[in-house]
Amino acid sequence: MLIVPETLIADLVSAEDAFAAVEATFAAMARGEACNFPVVREALGEGRQYGFKSGLDRAGDMLGVKAGGYFPGNAARGMINHQSTVFLFDPETGLPRAMVGGNLLTALRTAAASAISIDRLARPEARVLGIVGAGHQAAFQLRAAARVRRFERVIGWNLHPEMLPRLAAVAAEVGLPFEAVDLPRMREAEVIVTITSSPAASLMAAHVSPGTHLACMGTDTRGKQEVDPALVAAATVFADEVAQSVSIGEAQHAVAAGLLDAGAIVPIGRVLTGDHPGRSRAEEITLFDGTGVGLQDLAVAAMAVRRAVERGLGTQVAL
Ligand code: NAD
Repeated sequence: MLIVPETLIADLVSAEDAFAAVEATFAAMARGEACNFPVVREALGEGRQYGFKSGLDRAGDMLGVKAGGYFPGNAARGMINHQSTVFLFDPETGLPRAMVGGNLLTALRTAAASAISIDRLARPEARVLGIVGAGHQAAFQLRAAARVRRFERVIGWNLHPEMLPRLAAVAAEVGLPFEAVDLPRMREAEVIVTITSSPAASLMAAHVSPGTHLACMGTDTRGKQEVDPALVAAATVFADEVAQSVSIGEAQHAVAAGLLDAGAIVPIGRVLTGDHPGRSRAEEITLFDGTGVGLQDLAVAAMAVRRAVERGLGTQVAL
């Protein structure tokens, strides 16, 4: 088994690599070649969450699991709040192939998913990017979004405004002006990414203009919520995986309230394979409910392992 530690990942997998790997994964899911297994996610108390995301991609020769979770006390200790590790197995024999540091990979694959949705669903002429959230993932989200549209400025809102200067620095890094705004000014954005750990909706229908594309990325657990269910109901909803979207994603609330039919949610892989046209009108609100699937983790971890093997990096251990 090869161990690829967290410290090697930045040199092995780029944001572009993650975009390509996640796109291939979503398409494989839509073709029925790959499936995610049910998510296990448990509350540990004091806001900590722990769980497992796993799946099998037959065509991609990938079987595995990401174990990890969210530990909100970490930031105060100088560590990031998400901690995870990916384990890959041989799909034929079940023998372990690799153990891969999953923290940067999680940020890259999550940002890749939302960038794929922006690439495929946002209006081509979108020029204003709105970000709701300013934590660890928000920086990756901003960088990835900036790669797929010619944005001219970024506007940001966060419940904790003292975190926004860090996001402004990321905008500056990609050459975009940044302005901190109140939520009603999100109406200026043509693309909005939500990436908070909020337990209640902050972005309401009145804060969003017709024609906007929303990438709702923060809600990945039962009980989290970033967006007004009325806004979800008014949008054409796409998801990485419908089963996760209705159980742990943003759509859980609109579906539970009877405002959205789960059958109306479109797997984004169907847009990638050409089975669904995606956006159909300029004024349509499109919403991607990105809950994060295990197969995304396997795809980027497998890429890290391939690169590490090619370059003779990582540590082989006998089990
Ligand atoms: P973080 O702890 O670094 O940042 C948390 C963010 O949420 C900050 O902007 C903070 O101000 C905001 N926030 C905290 N409490 C809030 C509240 N009560 N109301 C509104 N906002 C609040 O976390 P992160 O690593 O940036 O992750 C953000 C979210 O994204 C988490 O919910 C995480 O579980 C989720 N996530 C999803 C995926 C996916 O694939 N969809 C992947 C990774 C993380």
